[in-house]
Amino acid sequence: MSSTYARRIREVQPSATLAVDAKAKAMQAQGIDVVGFGAGEPDFNTPQHIVQAGVGALTTGDTRYGAKRGNELKEAIAAKLKRENGLEYGAEQIVVSSGAKHSLYNIYQVLVDEGDEVIIPAPYWVSYLEQARLAGGTPVILETTEESGFKIGPAQLEAAITPKSKLFIFNSPSNPTGAVYTPDEIRALAAVIEKHNLVTISDEIYEHLIYGEIEHLSMGSLSKKLLEELVITVNGVSKTFAMTGWRIGYAAGPKPIVAAIRKLQSHATSDPAAFCQAGACEALKNRRMSDEAVMSMREEFDERRKHIVQRLNALKGVSILEPLGAFYAFANVSGVFGRELGGVKIQSAMDFTNVALDKARVAVVPGEAFGSPRHVRLSYATSRELIDKGLDRLAELLG
Ligand code: PMP
Ligand code: GLU
Repeated sequence: MSSTYARRIREVQPSATLAVDAKAKAMQAQGIDVVGFGAGEPDFNTPQHIVQAGVGALTTGDTRYGAKRGNELKEAIAAKLKRENGLEYGAEQIVVSSGAKHSLYNIYQVLVDEGDEVIIPAPYWVSYLEQARLAGGTPVILETTEESGFKIGPAQLEAAITPKSKLFIFNSPSNPTGAVYTPDEIRALAAVIEKHNLVTISDEIYEHLIYGEIEHLSMGSLSKKLLEELVITVNGVSKTFAMTGWRIGYAAGPKPIVAAIRKLQSHATSDPAAFCQAGACEALKNRRMSDEAVMSMREEFDERRKHIVQRLNALKGVSILEPLGAFYAFANVSGVFGRELGGVKIQSAMDFTNVALDKARVAVVPGEAFGSPRHVRLSYATSRELIDKGLDRLAELLG
């Protein structure tokens, strides 16, 4: 007899980032005082002017299929991509989905067939890998280390390309490492992509969270061929505007690919919630108020970043390469391997994670979920008080 469940779901792991967050929240609900560095989402509230736009949509009857401001949102996204990213897309080349995670899922589903290879640099965000598997694809992982700044180079990419290569996933700033590629590094990868006609997703969801000198560059802006044939730009409002729960993301790219995504989505979720589209529209169009909010959140993240890096480096057996973007600290805990902590011999990042939660009541995400068994990820999108409280506990645990 065949198995109850389809192979596509049997082979997939649940999202580790969401699982850690759920476990920490469940412990908190039982009255256990856990400090959560799990899921990556801003702890700020959505700026008020955006909230008001969402509320306004509900009270004025924008409660049907096909949001009243759906076309306006696509125009606003097209204008944003042109203004901030140098990407010239028409509104018909943009598809809005229920979060950038959904945008990514759609792209995999329309492009990847059984056995197709998907090239993913590690450490990678958990869902890149599992979404490739859900589509029947074979992930091809490109390893990186602290020495390369957790970045791949053009030769490494080129060596991974085979006749079965279907898709390359590029993410800068990176979740989980916080690595940011320089414009020259992006140009070098783009040259390989163009030479081999390799369709590429450029996930730019953390573009506004860069600290320091490096400027964000959109891969699709580098040539007409990249823009019109090869690059699909993925972005959303979750991280930039503290709108994770609104679930609005988008993909912009070659017309045939976008048309295929629309066809798929028309049978799955249809358009995202109407009032959420109205909120996203306000976020992108009321630039004066949004820019102010984004700037102040970025400044606060930067302070927390410097603080958590300093505190992590002071822990016995822990080291960290300074993250330059996003809001994650990706700490190398391999210096703790072989030691006994809280009565448990630590042999992996997973062991470290379990002991940190059980003995120190600190939730981190194990690097195994990101293809990196020597690291753990801490999201510093949480208050400075909680960062200190969590780090005090880890310091006590590590001695
Ligand atoms: N890409 C990356 C790299 C992420 O970290 C996230 C975070 N969830 C997403 C995409 C998806 O974000 P959302 O679905 O909230 O738009
Ligand atoms: N992307 C965030 C993270 O990596 C949110 C959780 C998720 O969607 O996986 O933690």
